[in-house]
Amino acid sequence: MKVFKFGGASASTVERIKHLPGIIKQYHGDKILVVISAMGKTTNALEKVAEAFYDGRREDALHLFNIVKQNHLTTAKYILVKNYNATEKKLADLFTEAEWLLHDKPVKEYDYYYDQVVCIGELLSTTIISAYLHEEGINNEWLDVRDIFRTDDNFRDANIDWAYTENKVKEIVLPVFQSSDIIITQGFIGSTNENESTTLGREGSDYSAAVFANMLNAESQAIWKDVEGVMNADPKQFPDAEFISELSYNEVIEMAYYGAQVIHPKTIKPLQNKNIPLYVKCFLDPSFPGTVIHKKSTKNLPPIIVLKPDQALLHLHAKDFSFVGEKHTAELYHLFAEIKIKPNLIQSGAVNLQVCIDDRTEKVDKLAAAASGIFDVQAEKGLTLLTIRHYNNNILDKLTAGKEIVLKQQSQETVQALMR
Ligand code: ASP
Ligand code: MG
Repeated sequence: MKVFKFGGASASTVERIKHLPGIIKQYHGDKILVVISAMGKTTNALEKVAEAFYDGRREDALHLFNIVKQNHLTTAKYILVKNYNATEKKLADLFTEAEWLLHDKPVKEYDYYYDQVVCIGELLSTTIISAYLHEEGINNEWLDVRDIFRTDDNFRDANIDWAYTENKVKEIVLPVFQSSDIIITQGFIGSTNENESTTLGREGSDYSAAVFANMLNAESQAIWKDVEGVMNADPKQFPDAEFISELSYNEVIEMAYYGAQVIHPKTIKPLQNKNIPLYVKCFLDPSFPGTVIHKKSTKNLPPIIVLKPDQALLHLHAKDFSFVGEKHTAELYHLFAEIKIKPNLIQSGAVNLQVCIDDRTEKVDKLAAAASGIFDVQAEKGLTLLTIRHYNNNILDKLTAGKEIVLKQQSQETVQALMR
């Protein structure tokens, strides 16, 4: 049994969706659970719907939702022949699910509405693609993952109830595989014990697929992307980025930790725990070997580069001119947890601390305000954080040339330089 995940980019246009049947047919005879994201930028578009609704701009919300609706109907119309009418009915039910809510007034927290609206994206995409695969001769069963993935009600970042979900996987998914080789379902979403929809955090479909792979004891997972595989840097920033054919689980966890946008950070653990290899494959040309991520440690990796723009550096000076001690540090970490901030770099000195975080204005302001009880706070914005794993001095010099280094930290494996 295999698990596949197709991201939004592989379902962003009719041309791209047309690659899917060919890929799945190559694995004829295998049982495959296929997780598919929302099409293209649908999740972003639905976020705007949720924002408008919560701001009390109902007409805007309905208008923005109507654009999403029309896009999906157009795609369905282009791609489906025999199944269009039946599919349109299913889509209409999903549209109604959202519109019914949009006619209400918001009385609960924003994150709750966000999840109720945003989850529609994956339900729409999988409905259309399941119907299309049928037309292409691929018998498949569509499952609503909300009947399987039980989560808590930490909306927008919900946590999976592992035991309950594993039971449901056995109870619902395994019997379906008796009669159908292919299951089409959604990533990123789940539901509470009160049948409220939840989401697992942006880009969470990789993680959903890994949870399925773990619970199904899959032989492998593949993530189909619009790139050749994992590269040593973002090719949009570094045109001569190199392809990496093999990586260890631990290396990928490190890369994700430092902000490489390869794979959702939570994806690796469920696979690592069961020693399930993860393939990153190119859906535009499945003949590319792709990258395999597995237990074996990999030697001779090229320098792996992560460049994060839009960084803020907070300079924190102990207010009472005392040394910075455990108490100050503990209070600061407490604030990180409370405000849900992941610091990218921390440097402590005798009377001060420096903290580099992503410059998301509302979080920076919140942290600065909260920390000002203990520290004098100064913030500098517009910085870039360079991280290089497996660095050498040549590459470090090259990438920092002409830049002013504000802060630098270095271990044997990894160097980080915050640059102005
Ligand atoms: N559709 C969701 C997002 O764009 C989840 C995913 O694609 O992984 O964040
Ligand atoms: Mg995506």
